[in-house]
Amino acid sequence: MREVIARHGLSASKALGQNFLFDEQLLDRIAAIPGDLSGRQVLEVGPGPGGLTRALLRAGARVTAIEMDRRCLPALAELGEAFPGQLRVVEGDALKLDHAELMGGEPFAVLSNLPYNVGTALFVRWLGGQNWPPLWTSLTLMFQQEVAQRIVAQPGGSTYGRLAVLAQWRAEAKLAMKVHRSAFTPPPKVMSAVVHVTPCAIPEGVSARTLERLTEAAFGQRRKMLRQSLKGVPGAVEVLEKLGIDPQRRAETVSIREFTQISRELG
Ligand code: SAM
Repeated sequence: MREVIARHGLSASKALGQNFLFDEQLLDRIAAIPGDLSGRQVLEVGPGPGGLTRALLRAGARVTAIEMDRRCLPALAELGEAFPGQLRVVEGDALKLDHAELMGGEPFAVLSNLPYNVGTALFVRWLGGQNWPPLWTSLTLMFQQEVAQRIVAQPGGSTYGRLAVLAQWRAEAKLAMKVHRSAFTPPPKVMSAVVHVTPCAIPEGVSARTLERLTEAAFGQRRKMLRQSLKGVPGAVEVLEKLGIDPQRRAETVSIREFTQISRELG
């Protein structure tokens, strides 16, 4: 990979959030997280010079890769030639593209060493979709470790918040691997971790929109008691009483199951 980068004159761009991975063993381990990819459709966001892409192709995946840095396209085209018929490169901004349409309405696994600035925006979009189960079968994504911990957080601590509820109320989210900052070129300031998310069934009668409104209110004033923070959500305080949830509790002690129960009652 270092040779590919040197040959194509690809210096990492800070503005595009570029921190490249070169260690093939590490990349193979990341590519193995979603299980056997042979013959499966994979969407990769931000392939850069193609380190993870190569690992995915080696694993037998059919990869669609979205990259907005034109400088990377020749290196990716070379990679496509080495794995005929397995790689399609789409030049563009992943935030502006319709992924389901891009993948031809077929199920796909998402793998990505995301640029940190777009990472959370894409994650919220993938997890917040109206259609469930979604077309993606799993998300295997690199995040700053601090964000990864917020995604997989359990109630009771300061990392538990809207991101954890969004990630876990109808999906399973696991911290699959920690990645040391020294594995990247250039090394970012903080440690990273790969999160693996798989969709599961929606708890019956729970509206995504109601749940979102509820968690926004509850965690928007996370130091306050629910009695106070949920004042702006009509009927919520009454529902707490009906369900036997102490209104003096704070949002960070409320389990995802309790949040979905409150949402169900609110309709
Ligand atoms: N996957 C490569 C690796 O692991 O070595 C590169 C990872 S680098 C952290 C992120 C890549 O995402 C860069 O190549 C950057 O150009 C690309 N990128 C940044 N924003 C993007 C966007 N909105 N849509 C598509 N690609 C983007």
